[in-house]
Amino acid sequence: MTAHSYRTDVAVVGAGIVGLAFAWEAARRGLAVVLFDRTRQPEGASVRNFGMIWPIGQPLGEEYQRALRSRQRWLELRDCAGIWVAECGSLHVAHHDDENEVLREFAAVGEKHGVQCEYLSAVEASKRFPAVATSGLQGALYSPTELAVNSPAAVARLPHYLAETYGVQLRLGVAVTDVNMPEVRTASGERWLADRVFVCSGSDFASLFPAVLSTAGIRRCKLQMMRTRPQPNNWRLGPHLAGGLTLAHYKSFEVCRSLGPLKARIAATMPQYIHYGIHVMASQNDHGEVIIGDSHEYDADISPFDKPEIDELILAYLRPRLNLPDWHIAARWHGIYAKHPTKSFVTAEPQPGCVIAVAPGSTGMTMSFGLAADWWETHA
Ligand SMILES: Cc1cc2nc3c(=O)[nH]c(=O)nc-3n(C[C@H](O)[C@H](O)[C@H](O)COP(=O)(O)OP(=O)(O)OC[C@H]3O[C@@H](n4cnc5c(N)ncnc54)[C@H](O)[C@@H]3O)c2cc1C
Repeated sequence: MTAHSYRTDVAVVGAGIVGLAFAWEAARRGLAVVLFDRTRQPEGASVRNFGMIWPIGQPLGEEYQRALRSRQRWLELRDCAGIWVAECGSLHVAHHDDENEVLREFAAVGEKHGVQCEYLSAVEASKRFPAVATSGLQGALYSPTELAVNSPAAVARLPHYLAETYGVQLRLGVAVTDVNMPEVRTASGERWLADRVFVCSGSDFASLFPAVLSTAGIRRCKLQMMRTRPQPNNWRLGPHLAGGLTLAHYKSFEVCRSLGPLKARIAATMPQYIHYGIHVMASQNDHGEVIIGDSHEYDADISPFDKPEIDELILAYLRPRLNLPDWHIAARWHGIYAKHPTKSFVTAEPQPGCVIAVAPGSTGMTMSFGLAADWWETHA
C-alpha cells in the first residue's frame, strides 16, 4: 500500500443523518468505520430542517414502530452524547369541521394501532397549551411521542461523538470521487479498501453512481423555511404545532375516511397553498427560536432563488393559529431532499458490498436511525 492507502471494515460516504445512522450502527457492532463528507461543517438537508422527530406522521404499523425505534436512539444520544433532545410531543389544531372530524377519527383508529394520541376539545387544548390561539379553534390532537432536536447542532456534534466513543475515523472536508469495490477514492488522493461501503449522498445524484440514481425514479424537493429570533421571557411553544393542511400531507392520516372531504375543500379553496405544496408547522429549539415552514417544489420547478410569496402564505396561515410573542423573522433558507414517489427509502447495491442508501424524503430525521438499525439486523 502507498502512504495514502488505508484499510477499514466500513466506509460511509455522507455525514448527513442517513450516513451518521449507518456509521453509528456499524460502530455499535464493533466494526472499524471511516466517515467521509465533502464539507467540513454539515450543509445538507439534515441541518436545514425543523428538527422534528415525527412518529405521528408515519404510516401506522411497521413504519410507525420504526419511527419509535429511531426515537429511542435520539433519547440515547441525549443521554450519551450531550445532544439537546426535548420530549415536546405534537399538537394538530383544527379550525374547520372537516379537520376536527379527521382528528377525532384518527384518535379512535390510532388507539387501535397502539398510537399514543388523544383528541382534545378546544377548551381542553387551550387550557393545556397556551401557545395555541383560541379564536376559531374547534379541537386538537395531542401526541406525546414527538421530539425536538436542534438539527444543526446535533448533526455537527454526532460525527465527533462517534469518533470519541467508537473510534470512527472522520474525513470531513474530503469528497469521495469513486467507489469501485473494495476501493474508495477521494479527491484528496486517499485510497481506502473496505468490506462494505454505504453511499448516503443525500440529494446529490450526480457524483457517484449517477446511472443508478437517475433511473431510480427519485425526485428532488425544495422546501422554504424561516426562523424567528429567540422568543422573549423564556416563552415556550410546548408541543410542535401543525394545522389542518398537515393532515393532508402525512401518510398516517390516510387511514381516515374523513380525509377525503378535507382534501377536497383545501383543493377548492386554497389553490396557492396547493400550488406550492405548502403545509404549515412550527417547532422551537433550545435557543427559544421558532422554526416555521414549509413548501414543496419539485425537480424542474426548483429555483436557486426563494419566493417571498411562499413565506407570506406560510405566515398568513400560522398567525391565526399561534400566540407567538415575537414574529420577527431572523433567518430564511431553503433545503432540498431526495424523495421517491412511492418508497419511504431507497436502497440499491450497484456492486457487491456497496450499498446506496438515500431518499428518506421528509422524514430522514425521524426514520434514519430506525432504518439503519433494521438494515444492519437484516444484513449483518
Ligand atoms: C426544509 C426541510 C425540513 C425538514 N424537516 C424534517 C423534520 O422536521 N423531520 C424529519 O424527520 N425530516 C425532515 N426533513 C427531511 C430530512 O432533513 C432529510 O430526509 C434528511 O436530512 C436527509 O438526510 P441525508 O443524509 O440523506 O442528506 P444530507 O443531509 O443532505 O446529507 C448528505 C451528505 O452527503 C455529502 N456528500 C454527498 N456526496 C458526497 C461525496 N461524493 N463525497 C463526500 N460527501 C458527499 C453531502 O455533503 C451531505 O453532507 C426536512 C428536510 C428539509 C429540506
